[in-house]
Amino acid sequence: MPHEKESISFNDVMTEAKKYLASSESLADIERAAKFAEDCHKDQKRKSGEPYVVHCYAVAYILATMHVGPRTIEAGLLHDVIEDTNVSKEQLAELFGEEVAEIVESVTKIGALQFKGKNDPEYQAANHRKLFIAMARDVRVILVKLADRLHNMRTLEYQSEESQQRIAAETLDVYAPIAHRLGISAIKNELEDLSFYYLNREEYYRIARLVEAKKAERDASVQKMISEISEMLAEHHIEYRIFGRSKHLYSIYHKMVVRQKRFDEIMDLLAIRIVTKTELNCYETLGYIHAKYKPIPGRLKDYIAVPKSNMYQSLHTTIIGDEGKIFEVQIRTEDMDAVAENGVAAHWRYKEGSKYDARAEQKEIEERLSWLSDFAALTDENADATASEYMATLQRDVFDVNVYVMTPKGRVIDLPNGATPIDFAYRIHTDVGHTAVGAIVNDAMVPLNTELHTGDVVSIKTLKGTGPSEDWLKFVKTNQARNKIRAYLTRKEAERKEEKVEQGEKVLTDELRKRGFEPKEYMDKKKLENIYSQFNVHNHTDFMYNLATKVINPTQVVEKLTNQKRPLQETDVLTRLNKEQPKKRYATKTGIIIPGIESMKISLANCCLPVYGDEIIGYVTKGVGVKVHRCDCANIKGQDARLIDVHWEDEDSERMYDSDLTILAHDRSFLLTDVVTAVSQTKAPLIKVSMNTHRDTLTSTIKLRIQVHDLEQLVNIMANLRRTEGVMNVERVSH
Ligand code: MN
Repeated sequence: MPHEKESISFNDVMTEAKKYLASSESLADIERAAKFAEDCHKDQKRKSGEPYVVHCYAVAYILATMHVGPRTIEAGLLHDVIEDTNVSKEQLAELFGEEVAEIVESVTKIGALQFKGKNDPEYQAANHRKLFIAMARDVRVILVKLADRLHNMRTLEYQSEESQQRIAAETLDVYAPIAHRLGISAIKNELEDLSFYYLNREEYYRIARLVEAKKAERDASVQKMISEISEMLAEHHIEYRIFGRSKHLYSIYHKMVVRQKRFDEIMDLLAIRIVTKTELNCYETLGYIHAKYKPIPGRLKDYIAVPKSNMYQSLHTTIIGDEGKIFEVQIRTEDMDAVAENGVAAHWRYKEGSKYDARAEQKEIEERLSWLSDFAALTDENADATASEYMATLQRDVFDVNVYVMTPKGRVIDLPNGATPIDFAYRIHTDVGHTAVGAIVNDAMVPLNTELHTGDVVSIKTLKGTGPSEDWLKFVKTNQARNKIRAYLTRKEAERKEEKVEQGEKVLTDELRKRGFEPKEYMDKKKLENIYSQFNVHNHTDFMYNLATKVINPTQVVEKLTNQKRPLQETDVLTRLNKEQPKKRYATKTGIIIPGIESMKISLANCCLPVYGDEIIGYVTKGVGVKVHRCDCANIKGQDARLIDVHWEDEDSERMYDSDLTILAHDRSFLLTDVVTAVSQTKAPLIKVSMNTHRDTLTSTIKLRIQVHDLEQLVNIMANLRRTEGVMNVERVSH
């Protein structure tokens, strides 16, 4: 077993605390917290059979050995009361102050993070570490959590085999790296060896035996070197402590497996540490050692001048001793040594008497450990990364990506600042994004543009058959979501267009057949191309699209296509008028003339609202004169007996015609404004406008009445409207 059994009593906690705490007030606070914890947990037992509170004492004891402040020890004693008993955060705050309550609450939240084994496809240890750090805004929370985990690992033998595997894996992947980042190597090494023992007992024992076998020989060499160096330092009157070091088992295993080193290679290195009084002593000592022993070039590292990112400071050198034996030598001061063991905890060892300010301490910690709040920047591999690499990583991983949210199953999703449930949805799956209709964040329904925060638990409501809204593009933060939404909308638009083109082709085929022509003969690309320009279009797609949306009249197309002229074409009339009566103007209200008839009352039909340039026909009413319809108006079908030819007279730029349009569009904000703008850009007066929103399909229908001079202007307006963001269809209306 990597750890000796121990049972910590409250006395042990107090003995340890009294080593650095003298204030009777502080000690009384700790005692009060211990009493309260004992009461709360009085009916609970650990799996080992011990009273539960023993775990609380043990956690507090570990914290006290790191010389943390009294508040942190109190939090250590109370760390499980919110989770395991009926005590609320408010109660804790009342009894022990806001600070202690906050630490305990954060520890509880982090404990609630679900973590699954490596076999889980959603396993992301790196993200768990990030989430852990992001949630622990106060470094004391991490210290308590690490102490908690250390004691749980020390007592892991009482758990089921399955729990042992899961907890050990989590410790190795999440907790040990965090301890390493904080420079708390004492805890890191112990967590690693304990995990190693449970995860790979065979290897653990194999390496333990190999180490044991070499021990005597190594000890002899190290002792010899120690006495040589001691003698030398004494001559120079340098105060020092010197001792041999042994690597912990997991680090040997790690070097063998990851760095592919043989056991002998690792164990050939003998390690010695010298701890002196001052920084100057460190450099002096290094100088004397290099003067006496041959250093291996390139192995000198000055971490005093340039500390590691976890604050570690020391001089490292590798020298060749007697019989060619190689020694790794570390030289550092007492303070540096404490930091090397207990990292962040050592650096901010609680000093009684000096006024303690938690906020100031946290601020100082964050300044010194600038990565702490930006933990994500540091992967374990780049501990020795250069400053520029470090900054680049920080920029990429932290400032761009620093919101960590979770699925209800505990999968951690990292998102950029300001990300929304839609960004989240697209990270889960494209289909989840496409069909998202609602979001639940921390059990409450929220709008899809809500900003997410670290620690939020997010789930997405989807509805089959729905699609993304163009509006989403205004608030999504990830490129992934933006690109997927755009791709979807473009694809839909193309599909819709394709459908319309097919519809247009069918309209024309039907019209040809109806008029007794063989469609095959005329539905020919070349023949069709010849007449595009006459309808203000330039390609097949637009031509058929306009046919489907009734912008182009199929009757007119058939006539042009088959050269089957009606008795009087509007163009013919105009040509004739220009030729024969160039100056004559008919000042009619409608702009329509009926050949041979001059005194008849002529009005435009309200149902189809013809505009100048439309293919038109007259309908002789009983008593109200001639109503002029568009040729394709449904209301005159089968009324052939009453129909007479009518023609547009010379164009009059003053005359205006009403026209009704219906627009179908994806619902979005400012839709109506943009539609109205599209019309007003063409200078056409807008007479009426109304909008209906269909909540179920997230679309809107807009009805417009506008005034135009002629068909050409109307076609331009319709084209302008079609280009408006979100618009799916624009049609002229026949009532
Ligand atoms: Mn606990």
